[in-house]
Amino acid sequence: MVIETNSPEETYQAGMRLGEKAEAGQVFTLMGDLGVGKTVFTQGLAKGLGIEEPVNSPTFTIVQVYDGGRLPFYHFDVYRIGDVEEMDEVGFDDYVMGDGVSLIEWADLIEEILPDKRTKILIEKDLERGFDYRRITVTQVG
Ligand code: ADP
Ligand code: MG
Repeated sequence: MVIETNSPEETYQAGMRLGEKAEAGQVFTLMGDLGVGKTVFTQGLAKGLGIEEPVNSPTFTIVQVYDGGRLPFYHFDVYRIGDVEEMDEVGFDDYVMGDGVSLIEWADLIEEILPDKRTKILIEKDLERGFDYRRITVTQVG
């Protein structure tokens, strides 16, 4: 599935629709360059799960847990990860195998430990289509 957006609000809405449909145990992996809209998308997804708390990139912790929604939400940002073993230390497997919804920004940095079954989200710019254009590709694998 490909979703095209032309504003942060539309990307937020796209995330929200996926969040509304998300199921217990679902894992989203999120890829795209810095500034492309991964956090905007994640904020929408959290809203779709019913989370009212503000969601920001977990800059100083690898994972941020939100319990206020329809399902627990585990937001990972692995951009600064040095080694995949750091993921063991935060209990990565327990989160992704648990009943909450997991979302991992920069997931390709930990490709080797990702679950086989996941919803891959790729966000890309295309400057020929304008500065605010984003193409969001959603692929179910596993
Ligand atoms: P990332 O988490 O991928 O580094 P952010 O979500 O923090 O990126 O930031 C995305 C930036 O791009 C924001 O400043 C946002 O206002 C801007 N932006 C412009 N157009 C869009 C769009 N269509 N979708 C999402 N963000 C957009
Ligand atoms: Mg971000």
